[in-house]
Amino acid sequence: MGCGARQAGSLAPVPRLSEVIAALDALWPPERAEQWDAVGTVCGDPDAQVSRVLFAVDPVQEIADEAVKLGAELLVTHHPLYLRGTTTVAASHFKGRVVHTLIKHDIALHVAHTNADTADPGVSDALAGALDIRVVRPLVPDPTDPAGRRGLGRICELDHPLTLREFAARAAERLPAAAQGIRTAGDPEAMVRTVAVSGGSGDSLFDAVRAAGVDAFLTADLRHHPASEAVQHSLPQHAPLGLVDAAHWATEQPWCQQAAAQLDEISDRHGWDLRVHVSKTVTDPWSTHHPSGAPN
Ligand SMILES: [Zn+2]
Repeated sequence: MGCGARQAGSLAPVPRLSEVIAALDALWPPERAEQWDAVGTVCGDPDAQVSRVLFAVDPVQEIADEAVKLGAELLVTHHPLYLRGTTTVAASHFKGRVVHTLIKHDIALHVAHTNADTADPGVSDALAGALDIRVVRPLVPDPTDPAGRRGLGRICELDHPLTLREFAARAAERLPAAAQGIRTAGDPEAMVRTVAVSGGSGDSLFDAVRAAGVDAFLTADLRHHPASEAVQHSLPQHAPLGLVDAAHWATEQPWCQQAAAQLDEISDRHGWDLRVHVSKTVTDPWSTHHPSGAPN
């Protein structure tokens, strides 16, 4: 996305990296990230000027190259580059090559991961927004938020009930295209009125989803056993649960749009000369899909 129109020769101030990071940290305070996470600024000079920002899900080489081509001075990604720490940034490893590419071109890298997941609005609000479904409350509320708006995942309502099949078709239509497409588990004709959504891997949230009593769960990376158990739990004493599994990248890419719009608004408020872009590059690692058993 581009930001508001700027006149050529505009005297609008170009912000420093430190100012842009302060704005991002206000949206997604780093102290709200999970203990195991690695969020914040990976590389960059706080005094450098930033006139162009690129948002993307993954800090991979294609995205670093895209930031170079765009002339961005700041790349903001959802996933960390180094989650477990490192002792080398040698370009002989792909992560080190990303660091070299960015530093050589004076591009900073900043990560907002689990602190963006639980924010208000957060990653799952963007996912719900992409599907045009109404957010009711967090799936796993943040106990430190008295307003009850922050937390992991979201419980949503549909204005008009859909079958699980129709809901999956909507996800396939509205989410950014990735090779995996959309998989479902459960009765495709079951009616869906309430949905739990969680951008990224939602495996760990099954207990909360069951407790919420929703009709369906939209997330990514669901594994065989938890998925099988969730469907098997759909016995008469439990509400049936439909599963909708999308590509991890596709469930988080809508956050990039939301985050870019947030920074754009802040930039307008400050009168900054700052352009905000969202990568459309598909960085989901799964790149082809072959339905099995299909005739050639
Ligand atoms: Zn993720």
